[in-house]
Amino acid sequence: MSTDHLNIEFALHQIPERLLDESKNPKPHVHSIEKYNELYQESISNPKEFWGRCAKEFLHWHKPFETVLSGGFEHGDISWFQEGQLNASYNCVDRHAIKDPDKVAIIYEADEPGQDRKITYGQLYRDVCRFANVLKHHGLKKGDTVAIYMPMVPEAVIAFLACARLGAVHSVVFAGFSSEALRDRIKDADSKIVITADEGCRGGKIIHTKKIVDDALKECPNVKRVFVFRRTGSDVPFNPSRDLWWHEEIEKQRPYCPPEIVNAEDPLFILYTSGSTGKPKGVLHTVAGYLLGAAVTFKYVFDYHEGDVHGCMADIGWITGHTYIIYGPLINGATTVLFESTPIYPSPSRYWETVSKHKITQFYTAPTAIRLLRKYGREHVDGHDLSSLRLIGSVGEPIQPEAWEWYNEVVGRNECAIIDTYWQTETGSIIISPFPGAVMTKAGSATVPSFGIDLVILDPLTGQEIKETKAEGVLAIRQPWPSIARTVYNNHDLYLRTYLHRYKGYYFTGDGVGRDSDGYYWIRGRVDDVINVSGHRLSTAEIEAALIIHPSVAEAAVIGVHDDLTGQAVHAFTTLKPHCESTDLGELTLQVRKVIGSFATPKKIYVVKDLPKTRSGKIMRRVLRKVVDGETDQLGDLSTLSNPTLIGPLIEAVKNS
Ligand code: ATP
Ligand code: MG
Repeated sequence: MSTDHLNIEFALHQIPERLLDESKNPKPHVHSIEKYNELYQESISNPKEFWGRCAKEFLHWHKPFETVLSGGFEHGDISWFQEGQLNASYNCVDRHAIKDPDKVAIIYEADEPGQDRKITYGQLYRDVCRFANVLKHHGLKKGDTVAIYMPMVPEAVIAFLACARLGAVHSVVFAGFSSEALRDRIKDADSKIVITADEGCRGGKIIHTKKIVDDALKECPNVKRVFVFRRTGSDVPFNPSRDLWWHEEIEKQRPYCPPEIVNAEDPLFILYTSGSTGKPKGVLHTVAGYLLGAAVTFKYVFDYHEGDVHGCMADIGWITGHTYIIYGPLINGATTVLFESTPIYPSPSRYWETVSKHKITQFYTAPTAIRLLRKYGREHVDGHDLSSLRLIGSVGEPIQPEAWEWYNEVVGRNECAIIDTYWQTETGSIIISPFPGAVMTKAGSATVPSFGIDLVILDPLTGQEIKETKAEGVLAIRQPWPSIARTVYNNHDLYLRTYLHRYKGYYFTGDGVGRDSDGYYWIRGRVDDVINVSGHRLSTAEIEAALIIHPSVAEAAVIGVHDDLTGQAVHAFTTLKPHCESTDLGELTLQVRKVIGSFATPKKIYVVKDLPKTRSGKIMRRVLRKVVDGETDQLGDLSTLSNPTLIGPLIEAVKNS
């Protein structure tokens, strides 16, 4: 198979001088490429030593561990620190509340500007204890599962930590999901309690959260208790034999609750994947390994220093929110921002107003938001004081070089570390990313592996490792790391089949990847989405990146469609920027030819109003494929599709083209 076209290597961006100037910035923890190499090499060649040391440095153990790692990929019986005992909420809250009770733990930036609130570690400690006592009083026990379906309010964080305090397992469901999707997740995870709110507010709109819960629970007889936090105070349906008000219950409880000390390998949470490639999987993470992965990457990849304000814009309903709004920052005793609104409410300057108001030092969002803001134009960024920012990051999808450059220049003013971080719900924490202060960047590359991540590229057909530096294939990992998911809840066989047995001896990510001659990694897109035109393997990410360079294009999604002559043909979907009514399709085709080559020329280009995306903002190419194939009655699991009303117009657009 030819991969000649994947020859484009992008220029290295130097580490901004400002980052290395110790009069302006704290010295980065990983301050040179030599330091990165040294730590990385140790983490790979001597993982037990490396992680054993980190586990003692980052976590408080009620009982120390003896064995660092046992088990492996063959049976999926991986266990880290197995004799150790600890409590996640003690690690996230108590020890900081004891040391520095007045330090701000959470900055809550509410949907309406001006309604922000700060919660100290001391306050968080008392709130978590009180709510844990509420749950305990109502019968919650170690190992029980609790569904959390809540807006982005501090009480959601309190709910996470109260579950963890009791050794219960939280299963957070993004509060934008429908009642059916919520019902399925409650049933699948065997949740016995639901924690929710009366309503949610997002982008000036009201979400009828409690009503959705009531609908979902019609078919969940095992849920005996629903705790309702009052967010808006509107009248909502209330079932007195089942429902309880948060504010009434916590008044009854004292702000002390001893943490339930659990085993290192006890479950901490279940979380469903985004559903980009199929039915979401209920991924299970365990206490110690997950916390350690979150803590170590938070410190080193985000280069956290005392006094920083960490602004992760994700929702707590996704792994990014779990790891980099809640667990990573709180384990490190950091100040974390909880952002309830959207990037464009009340205007496309909302992020930048928030950065300047709270003096955010690390800002983390997704390519979908960056593309959205780029579409609105830089005038919404310029003029805001972004001088507090030291690092800007992105996660969730490949970031097109065009969008990366925009982010770097317009938001980062070429003065910030810019990190494209690659990871998955299943990896628990970042596995590929530049280390600020140590690794030079390239627009569109996630660059180098994080500590303990033994990356390899496999030949997709033979499963053999490709040893040459320059390589194309599928991304896999050769040895377990602490925050790898331990199973798919109630379906270990699916876990083994999906991740560990596809290529024996490796964890398989499901993503295609390239490695350039500098050893930098480039995520090419989902293996399921790879397109093969006359023997050329084409990456969706690459063709989309070429399309988005055109000044009229806001977003692009590319799929492979059966073709009698070439095996597959490229079909491209694009949305346009606001000022563009239409575009010259010939120019778009030319753009792809120029950047990649004539073999990648789209056979068809559809201009549409909107692309199908998951609720976490990822493009769902599988839906586009079905629409083009005319299989509109077999669109698959659509529970995670954020905008189901686009399907009709999409089918029309394809039909009329
Ligand atoms: P499902 O597994 O249900 O199909 P999903 O894979 O979208 O859903 P997540 O775990 O939220 O669910 O997303 C992980 C995936 O997101 C990765 O496998 C990768 O395809 C993509 N991804 C995340 N970060 C990046 C990044 N920085 N660059 C490229 N791709 C990324
Ligand atoms: Mg996935």
